[in-house]
Amino acid sequence: MNFDKIKKIQDMDLKDKKVLVRVDYNVPLKDGKVDNNKRIVATEKTIKHLLANNCRVVLIAHLGRPKGKVCPEFSLAPVAEEVQKLFGVPVHFAKDCIGAEADAVVAATKNGEIALLENLRFHPEEEKNDPEFAKQLAKHGEVFVQEAFGTVHRAHASTSAVADYLPGCAGFLVQKEVEFLGKALENPARPFAAVIGGAKVSDKILLLNNLLDKVNVLIIGGGMAYTFLKAKGMEIGKSLVDDTKMDEAKQVMQKAADKGVKMLMPVDFRVSSEFSETATATEVDAIPADKESMDIGPKTEKLFHDELLKCKTIFWNGPMGVFEFPNFAHGSCSIAHAMIEATQNGAISIIGGGDSVNVLKKGKIDQKAFSHVSTGGGASMEFVEGKELPGLVALAK
Ligand code: AMP
Repeated sequence: MNFDKIKKIQDMDLKDKKVLVRVDYNVPLKDGKVDNNKRIVATEKTIKHLLANNCRVVLIAHLGRPKGKVCPEFSLAPVAEEVQKLFGVPVHFAKDCIGAEADAVVAATKNGEIALLENLRFHPEEEKNDPEFAKQLAKHGEVFVQEAFGTVHRAHASTSAVADYLPGCAGFLVQKEVEFLGKALENPARPFAAVIGGAKVSDKILLLNNLLDKVNVLIIGGGMAYTFLKAKGMEIGKSLVDDTKMDEAKQVMQKAADKGVKMLMPVDFRVSSEFSETATATEVDAIPADKESMDIGPKTEKLFHDELLKCKTIFWNGPMGVFEFPNFAHGSCSIAHAMIEATQNGAISIIGGGDSVNVLKKGKIDQKAFSHVSTGGGASMEFVEGKELPGLVALAK
């Protein structure tokens, strides 16, 4: 897809306009208050830009999975309080996102102020990408800004159909995601390495196949590695395996060989006889038949580190081991540290959302040390799998 067709918020004439902004404020709540405001803080640049242009800012968002029904526990009302605290301007909350209530609240909102409309997913039409519902949302703005990267892989009314009724553009967050997940991976500085881990081969087959067309080095770790190792005839003991994906694993290895992609897999392991939080890790070069490998070993860490340090672009998705258990988080953290070192040497480092981001949180590793840490889990995966994302296609129209 041609990302250059997507207009940027900074290129739009927004002075004194009423602007409809789709944000990702799907935040955790606790005792009726926002428990973690990271996603709201992440939209700061875009909101401040709009307020500086004296815009009337109309925010639309979803929270949780109310499945098309009004569910008070998924109300965005607590989010309105947090938005007001963060941006220091009046925030008007509407108890519905369409209809008379929403129209009245938007009308009462002055330029330089914010309206936040109730959960889009209280209406089943949102997830059905219903054009009439989208038209009603579009009435709330003269311009549409897409700032919710985490939902652009969905063809919903507030991500797709709404752009049929308003001139649309990408907010600063979405631009950064497109810049790194789109352009940097499409046209990478080389050598380009991808590090792929996680539990299941089946979840990552599309990703691996698409990356094999682009990378110079493919590093495989995590639970999925054992299907590859078994396919190569190795003893994997009681490690995670998907026997139905053996052929696909072989095809991936063949494709890598055909394309001249250097493929690295674990050469040693941290094993245990029990899958538990308190299990101790034993470092081994070969997995005993009665043991399960729950992390890569120190030799593998060094092998992967040394390879990554030769690379100019590194993309990482999926943990190297069961990082949720402290004794098996070492391998995943070692990838993060190797990427930081490579970044300090001038490489571009990109973390593709999901559980790799949880590794950083668990290991207390600063996200700012990487070139980009994606805010979208499913969206970033689909992006790197090479799929067209409806929310971006709608903006490029
Ligand atoms: P994914 O969501 O596919 O990226 O997978 C993440 C999950 O993979 C995490 O919950 C990890 O605990 C799990 N995982 C990683 N390595 C292993 C392993 N060696 N054995 C079992 N599970 C693993």
